[in-house]
Amino acid sequence: MLEIKDLHAGFEGVEIVKGVSLTVNRGEVHAIMGPNGSGKSTLSKVLAGHPAYEVTAGSITFDGKNILDMDPEQRALEGIFLGFQYPVEIPGVNNAEFLRMAYNAQRVHKGEDELDPLEFDDLLVEKMKLVSMDPRYKDRALNDGFSGGEKKKNEILQMAVLNPQLGLLDETDSGLDIDALKAVSAGINKLASKDNALILITHYQRLLNYIEPHFVHVFSHGKIVKSGDKKLALEVEEQGYDWVATATK
Ligand code: ADP
Ligand code: MG
Ligand code: MG
Repeated sequence: MLEIKDLHAGFEGVEIVKGVSLTVNRGEVHAIMGPNGSGKSTLSKVLAGHPAYEVTAGSITFDGKNILDMDPEQRALEGIFLGFQYPVEIPGVNNAEFLRMAYNAQRVHKGEDELDPLEFDDLLVEKMKLVSMDPRYKDRALNDGFSGGEKKKNEILQMAVLNPQLGLLDETDSGLDIDALKAVSAGINKLASKDNALILITHYQRLLNYIEPHFVHVFSHGKIVKSGDKKLALEVEEQGYDWVATATK
């Protein structure tokens, strides 16, 4: 489904992603682990089409289509979803209304009728149950004054509503206490299916105690330096990232 080949990308002439290749198929959960500043968030933003980043070499195809030619909206309509490491607060934009607009954009793209607020409400309430989110967050402004954990839950709610082919979750576990981590992980596990794929970007192994990845990739200095199964995550936890960097030299 997703094929990244020798991707180089950066910001204002500084290369941050330095030759990433990765293949992700339907039904797979991949974890990308790496130290702070190694370029994980940059990779996720490049996949989502963030305009601040420039791709200087390599290719990204999604279902055989070159997505580098697509703007972020098109990529989203193709089924790519990015859950942000730092979700933005948008005062004045109602959470439910925002979700309905995003959801309806997809329906229109597929040639279906838009849902009106009442119809959408039924769907939203279902999805909020799925991610154990209190329905009162419907009526709040988007992430406005949300705690760190509530923002992350809201990202998972967005993913639940949009039902993407590929979910990229950037440090969804960071800033969560143990109960929030369990709730968010349970929501993610319910959303993972044989028809979609997930890439979990994380600094810590602990998320992987709750969501079992099929593949683990260690990211360092803009590259995947080692790939393996979930045992690799435990090795990293025990030995630290320096161990991987040294072991692959
Ligand atoms: P990670 O998510 O692995 O912690 P990031 O992708 O956030 O790493 O950052 C990798 C490096 O790229 C860091 O040194 C960061 O400061 C730099 N970087 C990322 N985005 C920008 C940007 N928009 N402007 C300047 N530097 C950036
Ligand atoms: Mg970071
Ligand atoms: Mg990051």
